[in-house]
Amino acid sequence: MTLNRKKSRIIIIGANFAGLSAASKLSKCHEVIVIDSKQEFQWTPNIHEILSDVKKETSLSLNLETIISRLGHCFINQTVCSIDGALQTVTLDDKQTLNYDVLLIASGHTRANYDIKGANKYAYGFRTAEDVIQIHNDIEALLSNNKQPVNINIIGGGFTGVEVLGELLRKYATNTQLHFNVIDSASRLVPALPEKLSDDILSQCKLYQVNFYFKQKITEIKKSSIHFTDKKSINSDLTIWSAGTKLPDYLGCINTKANTNGLVVNTYLQTENFDNIFVVGDSATLAQPSAKQASIALDTGLHAAININRFCFEKTLKPFKMRSKPVLLSLGDINTYFIQGNLILASPVLAAAKEAVYQLYMARLSTLLPLEQSVLGIAGRITLSTDKLLMAEILKLRPRVLFGRSKVL
Ligand SMILES: Cc1cc2nc3c(=O)[nH]c(=O)nc-3n(C[C@H](O)[C@H](O)[C@H](O)COP(=O)(O)OP(=O)(O)OC[C@H]3O[C@@H](n4cnc5c(N)ncnc54)[C@H](O)[C@@H]3O)c2cc1C
Repeated sequence: MTLNRKKSRIIIIGANFAGLSAASKLSKCHEVIVIDSKQEFQWTPNIHEILSDVKKETSLSLNLETIISRLGHCFINQTVCSIDGALQTVTLDDKQTLNYDVLLIASGHTRANYDIKGANKYAYGFRTAEDVIQIHNDIEALLSNNKQPVNINIIGGGFTGVEVLGELLRKYATNTQLHFNVIDSASRLVPALPEKLSDDILSQCKLYQVNFYFKQKITEIKKSSIHFTDKKSINSDLTIWSAGTKLPDYLGCINTKANTNGLVVNTYLQTENFDNIFVVGDSATLAQPSAKQASIALDTGLHAAININRFCFEKTLKPFKMRSKPVLLSLGDINTYFIQGNLILASPVLAAAKEAVYQLYMARLSTLLPLEQSVLGIAGRITLSTDKLLMAEILKLRPRVLFGRSKVL
């Protein structure tokens, strides 16, 4: 496809990690329109910390309208409900249709319920800060009713499920009213990561009131129970769904190759049928196998912006080369794991590294806000983290605990 117009119109759907990093690198000589159904950027990798009051929603969010207009682009707070690749249009919730020259899809993933009866109605999602606030408030309400015992079930023992459990234990480890269950259809925790990680987490959890149910297939979730294929069931006062994600439904209408993981892109991040549609972040299935990670979303977003600039000026595109990234997984204040391939380091002090990534990125984005908001935001985040996370960790850590939990797995 050749673009003749002087000013190309580029539409970005989704303004979190991938979409925002692309927007920050797209030249102002294009007309750039960024669309998101949310009004705020959210730092999702730390939303689970809202459960233990270590983070507040405000410390994880930044106003998109302000950031995007500072970048010199236009922000529309709407949901995209369909895309027509042949007509080069996107249609919004309010039925407005916008034309584009180049489209960047950065709308992430959404919750997958695997057609389990009652899952959507009775299990809380864990995708946004709003989901987590709801869970936080409902646990507090259950506890104040003095119900005995309160059963909290986490469905899905992957990355998110483990971080949710850790945060609940950070806050409620000594509360005997609460019982936690983690349920997964796999035979262990975090099946995408080495087995020794699962073994270590399970052994750390022996000290707490947690039961693990592996190789369990759920047939139905009811208001106060969870039912399995073997006809057994367990009680549930609150069910959290961290069992999986999928491509958002609206992308089903776009006529290009897709699999359950995402829209398939070539090495330049373009879709198969439309060379003017690029896909990044969780929405993309890359040529090289990759995890759904914020750092990959940031890298693909930046790379797509470089290629879109080149595409508009009819220059040769550059192939995306994936750099393997370590992962930091936290189990509340019990331990934090650094995982790179088969290498796993465990130490409570790694929590500071995870916190530093968050603080640095939020501070960098804050520079796009008006000075007063930026300074207040940075000060608020650092004060909260120092007070609730870093000092709390330091005060608790005795050398024996620190050295006992620090190891190479
Ligand atoms: C609880 C949790 C913990 C995590 N922990 C980590 C971690 O520790 N490390 C790590 O690397 N990754 C982690 N992740 C994964 C990481 O958050 C994702 O990989 C990352 O957010 C993907 O970025 P993205 O920009 O592709 O999509 P998203 O961040 O999901 O952003 C998609 C954006 O698109 C918008 N959108 C969606 N559909 C539409 C539509 N139809 N119209 C308009 N807007 C739309 C959404 O509102 C959203 O703002 C975690 C995720 C969760 C949920």
